[in-house]
Amino acid sequence: MTNNVLNTVSVDVEFDKDHIWHPYTSMTNPIPCYPVDSADGCLISLQSGEQLVDGMSSWWACLFGYNVPELNQAATEQLHKMSHIMFGGLTHQPATNLAKKLVEITPEGLDKVFFSDSGSVAVEVAMKMALQYWQSLGHAKTKFVALKKGYHGDTFAAMSVTDPDGSMHELYQDFVAKNYFTKQPTIAFDQEWDDSEMLELTNLLEDKHNKIAALILEPIVQGAGGMHFYHPNYLKAARKLCDQYNVLLIADEIATGFGRTGKLFACEHAQITPDILCLGKAITGGYMSFAATLTTEKVANTISQGKAGVFMHGPTFMGNPLACAVANANLTLLMNSKWSVLVNSISKQLRQNLTICEQLSSVNKVRVLGAIGVVEMHQAVDMVTIQKQFVEAGVWIRPFGKLIYIMPPYIITSAQLKQLCTAIYDVCKRIN
Ligand SMILES: *Cc1c(COP(=O)(O)O)cnc(C)c1O
Repeated sequence: MTNNVLNTVSVDVEFDKDHIWHPYTSMTNPIPCYPVDSADGCLISLQSGEQLVDGMSSWWACLFGYNVPELNQAATEQLHKMSHIMFGGLTHQPATNLAKKLVEITPEGLDKVFFSDSGSVAVEVAMKMALQYWQSLGHAKTKFVALKKGYHGDTFAAMSVTDPDGSMHELYQDFVAKNYFTKQPTIAFDQEWDDSEMLELTNLLEDKHNKIAALILEPIVQGAGGMHFYHPNYLKAARKLCDQYNVLLIADEIATGFGRTGKLFACEHAQITPDILCLGKAITGGYMSFAATLTTEKVANTISQGKAGVFMHGPTFMGNPLACAVANANLTLLMNSKWSVLVNSISKQLRQNLTICEQLSSVNKVRVLGAIGVVEMHQAVDMVTIQKQFVEAGVWIRPFGKLIYIMPPYIITSAQLKQLCTAIYDVCKRIN
C-alpha cells in the first residue's frame, strides 16, 4: 500500500461502496452514503462542505449534540488514566459511579446493574436473567411473550422477540427461537382507555403462563416497529398481569430512556417498575456503544442462589472505563440540565410545526410525544430520493417505510427545529 492511499484525507466513497456494509444494505446495490467530515452541536458537516441540521440524534443517542465539551473532557481525562481494563476481578470508579447514578435515577427497586456493549446484548442479558431466574426456582419457564410491531435488536434472542411479520423471522426461521406474540397495543397515548385492550394478552397468559418466563416490551413507544405511541394504562395493566401470572416484566428502554418521551424513563408514564430494565443508545450521549441491564434484588439473588450460582455472562469489554466515564459526564449533564423543559419545548414546537403536514394528501397522520415527531405517510417513501431532497434542504433525516420522523438533540434551537419541520413539509408536499 502506498503512502498515498494511507494518507488519503477524503473519504474513499468507491472503496466504501465496494467493501463496507452499512446498516441493512445490499453489497451489490447499496443506498448512496454521504461522506461526513465532522459534527458539532446540532450540525453535521459533510465533506462537500454542506452543513445539515441533525434530526436523528444518530438514532436516539446524541442528547446534547456532537463535540460536547463536557463529554470530550471526560473522555480525554479517562483516556490518560486507562481506556480499558478487564472487569473480571477488577473494578474502577467510572463503573461504580455510573452504577450508582443508574440505580438512583431509574424506577425504584432496580438496584443491580449489568454492563454490556450494545442494546441488543443488553436484551440478550435481560432474557438470560429471566431464564436463569425461573431455572433457579425449578420452573420450566423458557418462553417469552412480546408485542407485535416491537423491536428489540438484531442478535438472535432479541430477534426472537421482535415483530414476527418482518423479514427477520422469515429469513432465519429455522434458527430463531419460537416465542409468543400478542397484538400491538391499539389505543394511542392520548386516546380514551378501554380494558378490552388487554383481553388477548390476558388470555395468552391465562393459557400459557406455566411456560412463560417474561413479557418483554418497549414501554409507551414502539420505535423501529412503527413509531407508535401507546396508552400508559397498557403498561399498568401489563405490570398487574405479570404479577398475577408469575411472569417477569422486561422493559426495553434502549430508545425511550433518558428523557426522550417527556419522562426520564417511559415506565414513569405508568408509574411502574419492571423486573428487568434495558438501557443503551443515549447512555453515553452518543459517544460510543454501551448498555446496561438493571434488575431487582429479588431477581439477582434468586439467580445467584441457583444451580450455576452465578449469572452466566461476561463480555470482554464489560464496564469499559472510557464508556463509563463518558456516560457519567452525560448523565451529570442530563440531570443538571433542564431536560424536561427542553423536551417539552421541542414537543410544543413539533406540534405547532408538523401538524400542518396533515393537510397534505400524501400524509396519513402526524403524532408527537416528548422530543419525537412522526409523520406517517400513506405509502412507503423512496429513501434514496427523499434523503437527497432532505440533504438539499440542509437537514439530516432518515425515514423508513411510511415513516418520516425526527428525534433531535435536546439542545436544538428553535430555528433549527423549524428548518427540520419545514423540510419535512416541503418534501411531503412533493409526494402525491
Ligand atoms: C436500538 C434498539 C435496540 C438495539 O440496540 P443496539 O445498540 O442497536 O444493539 C434494542 N431495543 C430497542 C428498543 C432499540 O431501539
